[in-house]
Amino acid sequence: MNTKQSPPQQPSLLLVPICIVRCPQCSHAFSFTCENLNTIIPCPSCKRKFFYIDGFLNHYRRHPGIFIDQVHPIPIAPGFTIGGEIQIIPNEIQAVYYGVTYNRPPQLFFLNDQNLPARDLLVENLYVAAVSISTDNFILLSRILDPGREIPECRVRWLSIGEIGVHEKPIWISILQNAADLILKEEERAALVMLQTALDFFLDSNLEQLNLDYRDVKTAARRWKISDRRARIRLLERHYGSFPRRLTTKLIDLAEQRNRIVHGRITRPEARDFSGAEAFELILDTITSINDLKYAYFQREDVEPDGKK
Ligand SMILES: [Zn+2]
Repeated sequence: MNTKQSPPQQPSLLLVPICIVRCPQCSHAFSFTCENLNTIIPCPSCKRKFFYIDGFLNHYRRHPGIFIDQVHPIPIAPGFTIGGEIQIIPNEIQAVYYGVTYNRPPQLFFLNDQNLPARDLLVENLYVAAVSISTDNFILLSRILDPGREIPECRVRWLSIGEIGVHEKPIWISILQNAADLILKEEERAALVMLQTALDFFLDSNLEQLNLDYRDVKTAARRWKISDRRARIRLLERHYGSFPRRLTTKLIDLAEQRNRIVHGRITRPEARDFSGAEAFELILDTITSINDLKYAYFQREDVEPDGKK
């Protein structure tokens, strides 16, 4: 087998930015990027303001599976999909450059003859797959399956998807992304634990916006004789209104499952078990539902996210 490298790719077929935000107050969707995901931006339609990251997650709230899709998950921060087409040189290794540098190796997939994404391809007498994926290129391998048969002229379309650019992120977004990565690696138990850590950090960042800190959470938990997480939620409820009960029950079950994983402790044998994907969906639903309460409060009180009237 030769190891010749193909010349750098021709201009990309496709460059699609992933940066749509949807206003949490009027649902107007538009493209926008900023360096700090906690930036407060104005909605061009209703003119009210919101945190960029809240609008980003609000846009994908009905399709949380998109962040943990086994074939082409999108990052939980602005990014890019880039696509190209390459002429396959049978039985050679070819380096293909995206033309941009991702923050970490992107998700890469090929489009099969039905235009569906796939991790590898079988094209007539050729097998095609990426043997290594790095931040600015991938190494493509092709193998002739039956040397006695004709080798087809073959072009393959590829797509890469990942995060580009420097984004200052709230810590809970980084933890949520780690949880998504664990689900993609099928590390279900670690993902379940990580997801609840992400939720705790999300709740803390919201409490911080209300000038409440860890000591307030501890004091409340002792006073109300509930867990720290329940105390965080109840402190937020006092400002923003009641949290949906359909989620509370599920979160209690998820906490039980976590305690079983971490401490081997079973206190509620009737609690249901969640898969990593179900738990991810629940946490995203919880985050966007709390945001709904928060923005309804802003509207009611006529305040902006930074507390300004
Ligand atoms: Zn709006």
